[in-house]
Amino acid sequence: MQKPATSQADTESESGYIGRFAPSPTGPLHFGSLLAALASFLDARANQGKWLMRIEDLDPPREPAGSAELILQQLQDFGMNWDDEVLYQSARLGIYEEIVDQLQDKGLAYPCDCTRPQIREMGLVYNGSCRERSTPPERPYALRLKTEALEIGFDDKIQGHFSQQLELDAGDFVIRRKDELYAYQLAVVVDDEFQNITHVVRGWDLLDSTPRQIYLQRVLNYQEMSYIHIPIIVDGKGQKLSKQTFAPSIETDRASEAIYKALIFLGQVPPVEIAIERPESQLQWAIANWDSQAVAKVSSLPLE
Ligand code: GLU
Repeated sequence: MQKPATSQADTESESGYIGRFAPSPTGPLHFGSLLAALASFLDARANQGKWLMRIEDLDPPREPAGSAELILQQLQDFGMNWDDEVLYQSARLGIYEEIVDQLQDKGLAYPCDCTRPQIREMGLVYNGSCRERSTPPERPYALRLKTEALEIGFDDKIQGHFSQQLELDAGDFVIRRKDELYAYQLAVVVDDEFQNITHVVRGWDLLDSTPRQIYLQRVLNYQEMSYIHIPIIVDGKGQKLSKQTFAPSIETDRASEAIYKALIFLGQVPPVEIAIERPESQLQWAIANWDSQAVAKVSSLPLE
């Protein structure tokens, strides 16, 4: 399978470590996304690595205007400066199209017009029923990647070994949606390769996406990478803290407080004296003392 034309310029680091933060701009950063940003930033910097920024703006209807700029501004206000140019997925649609065409030409991807209720009836995992159809559907359709009866596992540095029987647990998965938008699973794999990412640090909610991404990396002959999935935060009702549950945006004038709290949530032991220091000096301490193994496997701390 052909690789994307070129890699992002300058994506090399002396230590060989290249990490990234890849927010979807569905709103400003909240405490949950700050944690993913901070953990990926600290792990990269503590390993003398690069930390790249990618805006995953694949889904315009869910992206309020100005969110990407807001996120980038928040990160800067928090002292988290990234390397190289920001990569916007909205500028990469032609590349995704090329890859999807290649997968289809090789018979590895196929159209599927099954509806949500139909898939629910299958027991939530898509059963591959459109694999063998000979004529393209007449109504709007998604494109799915064919999976195989393989066990795909990896060793997460915090969560330990995690594996899935791909065909049974995930099923043939969507790489281009019915509304013709490219799917996260496709774009994330193509762009992690493009940016030469070696280390992914992100929220635990994406753990079960990882075997699909590893499978796609193998199909496309891309490099594999190392993973850390940090615990996600739940609110008082046990729901994931996210933009969808209206998690409050973090205020820049309370950056020090938020960073201090985030470090504690990540199992680090910052001295109380730094609680009110400027973000830059808090981060200096945090880089020098970063211990990824101190991050808990699951969140034990619901937000008040
Ligand atoms: N864009 C995804 C999100 O904001 C994260 C993607 C990733 O880190 O792989 O949830």
